[in-house]
Amino acid sequence: MKCKTCGVGDKVEIAAKTTGRDAAGITRCYRLECGHAWHVAIPTIDTGSALEVAEPARCTCGEIATVNGLLVEGRLHAALGKDLTEDAYRRWLEQVLQALDGIPAEIGAPSLIHSATLAAKSQTTGMSEKTSDLNKLLGRAIKAVS
Ligand SMILES: [Zn+2]
Ligand SMILES: [Zn+2]
Repeated sequence: MKCKTCGVGDKVEIAAKTTGRDAAGITRCYRLECGHAWHVAIPTIDTGSALEVAEPARCTCGEIATVNGLLVEGRLHAALGKDLTEDAYRRWLEQVLQALDGIPAEIGAPSLIHSATLAAKSQTTGMSEKTSDLNKLLGRAIKAVS
């Protein structure tokens, strides 16, 4: 779907979750690869009334707010490439490690915090590769809590 914050192009959904349900239809939370998330109202077909689709609303889900915020920041870091400062990276990394601690990985996969620590310590990758590795882990974390 299109992200109202990023504007350009369609963004891939990392995860989607039904967050509300009433007589008029359901609300689904679409968690996008850019780190933004949107609540979309999907009306029940047989409401009889004219199909009026509301604009997507900004996500208010507490459980993903931190991880999503970090992913948004991580995407900005990735876009900076070589202009990313060590300082900004370190501050972000610290928060990423805190956020990933305790979020379960897929069954059979090493824990997210373990993977993140390894990615951050890697001697063979530069800061921008680390950033993109950590962004992938944040994406998995969003999926895991959805
Ligand atoms: Zn976005
Ligand atoms: Zn949400």
